Amino acid sequence: MANRREFLKGASLLTLGALFTNCTNANAAPKGGGPLGLQTYSLGPELTANGLAEGMKRVKESGYSYIELAGYRDGNIGQTPMAEYKKIANDAGIEIVSSHLNPPVRDYSKDNFEQIKDFWKKATEDHKAIGVQYMVQPGLPNCNSAEDAQFVGEVFNAAGEITKQAGIQFGYHNHNFEFNRLLPGGTEAISFANRNYRPAEGQPMPKTTEEIFIESTDPSKVIFELDVYWTVMGGQDPVEWINKYANRIQMLHIKDRLILGDSGMMNFPKIFNAFYSHNHKYFFVEIEDTRSGIQFDRIKASADFLNSSGLVKK
Ligand code: MG
Repeated sequence: MANRREFLKGASLLTLGALFTNCTNANAAPKGGGPLGLQTYSLGPELTANGLAEGMKRVKESGYSYIELAGYRDGNIGQTPMAEYKKIANDAGIEIVSSHLNPPVRDYSKDNFEQIKDFWKKATEDHKAIGVQYMVQPGLPNCNSAEDAQFVGEVFNAAGEITKQAGIQFGYHNHNFEFNRLLPGGTEAISFANRNYRPAEGQPMPKTTEEIFIESTDPSKVIFELDVYWTVMGGQDPVEWINKYANRIQMLHIKDRLILGDSGMMNFPKIFNAFYSHNHKYFFVEIEDTRSGIQFDRIKASADFLNSSGLVKK
């Protein structure tokens, strides 16, 4: 996915993370030991290298008890039909809570609104059959103006209405580009990396894409899954966002540069404290760089970090 590849371009922003998150002992950590979630994208080809059943068993042994799927396509997750996938996961003691999926287009318009809705209708039928609670879009549609983002919000509302009819909650997951700013009538986004941008005198600071998505969507139809690492990489403090949009940001991607806790740039105690203070529950550990060949080691080390840190509520 393009946004994931863009990570390398953002590497110079790593110091920015430290700016927001270095005060690691500012809050006492909640008492821990609760269940851990995993975004299965983290394992890349290792998940199925020895068969999905063996992969799911290792996910469980690594310390995880629920997952968020990646790789939905026309009734399958990767190469596996969804009903079979669910049985294999459940047999290993893993619950499927959520699934990441994107419509087949990146430019949203009135011309392809129906095509996008048809995608969500079929995907909702497929996901209802395996009983997921959340369907989450992780890919950013092209947005060059505030109006573009508002239109995307309308499409999200339509998707959320479709999933809601099936008892599934629709959500959106960010990377760093959602922290680009968008001008009304604009032709190009103002990059999150442009620290020197100031609006013309007397004009307000333009809103970020993420703010417009949150504000233009119906809270009863669209929730947000905040990827805390990409939020930092976008120049923002995830704790501020979790608190400001306490009722809209209902799930997290718990992510660091690689293994959780290793970089020292993510303030996980503050992040978990803020998240739990708003009575939310589900988070998914995610580790990108999926072709390392040692992803199982990394997810295990990340689970060990969470379990030993006492961050996760029972
Ligand atoms: Mg993520």
